[in-house]
Amino acid sequence: MKFLITGGAGFIGSHLADELINGGHEVIVLDNLSTGRLENVSHLGKGRNFELVVGTILNENLVDKLIEKSDVIFHLAAAVGVELIVKKPLESLTTNIRGSEIVLEMTERYHKKILITSTSEIYGKNINGPLKEDDDRILGSPLKTRWSYSTAKAVDEMLAYVYWKQMQVPSIIVRLFNTVGPRQTGAYGMVLPRFVEQALKNEPITIYGSGKQSRCFIHVTDVVKTLVKLIGNQNAVGEVFNVGSQEEVTIEQLANEVIRITKSSSKLVYIPYEKAYEEGFEDMQRRVPDTNKINKLIGFKPAYSLKEIIEDIVKHRQ
Ligand code: UDP
Repeated sequence: MKFLITGGAGFIGSHLADELINGGHEVIVLDNLSTGRLENVSHLGKGRNFELVVGTILNENLVDKLIEKSDVIFHLAAAVGVELIVKKPLESLTTNIRGSEIVLEMTERYHKKILITSTSEIYGKNINGPLKEDDDRILGSPLKTRWSYSTAKAVDEMLAYVYWKQMQVPSIIVRLFNTVGPRQTGAYGMVLPRFVEQALKNEPITIYGSGKQSRCFIHVTDVVKTLVKLIGNQNAVGEVFNVGSQEEVTIEQLANEVIRITKSSSKLVYIPYEKAYEEGFEDMQRRVPDTNKINKLIGFKPAYSLKEIIEDIVKHRQ
């Protein structure tokens, strides 16, 4: 099969490209290299099975051409990373909303199948856990830029769902919870690559807020294997799935675990949110996925523990 991956030079997209090519498929990557990087896909070369197209999902003609010649679309292209979104909210809104609209429109035009990645940011400040796919979204004011990402991705989800309901475009939505692993950069705010980098340099580990907020981290390999299983499952069409680990850890515990594994002499420093992001910044205190739905469909269970994830990131950095 020939797969188009939008955002395929990014962290998750490039691992997905690896997985598909290893499975004997052909892959076209469309990426504007804004947060994606050439080095993430350079090992795939210019072989018969792989093509990199540098361009944006906002380019309708290009998206039209690429979707026409693909069998299935993985739509991962998005402006991501809390820090990036706070700094560049306009890009986040236009890329994520208009870009997805274009991709879906062309998918409908050529009657193709599509999987769209969404985010646990959808749930906003809902700290009930574990969060089910149909749980409420609790968001702050639209004037707080942090919520622009959650809102844009919710529009993407609605579009994908409505294209399925109204136009019968076979679409699958996946909400990813804190995906981490080799190739992820800390440049756009993601916590784990930052902590590992800081620990390896014996520099202070920057904890935002109290450090009592918690997250669940999943290895990117577990994520991409799940995406490939889902796209091949007819019962996934028209559905939304949480994909994430249920191993909950506070950010403070995470920092200590990174220090222990790297044998670092780094100390913890606590930085108030308004200094780390912007005045009035609101963080989620907790975010745990309920994964019963996907478990029932495909027997989902992450293979990597948090300890193994950190070790794998360290191994690939040294
Ligand atoms: N965080 C932190 N130090 C950093 C970067 C992030 O303490 O250098 C915190 C951040 O405030 C949040 C958590 O780590 O509470 C996870 O942040 P990330 O941006 O990785 O993911 P998300 O907030 O989207 O879950």
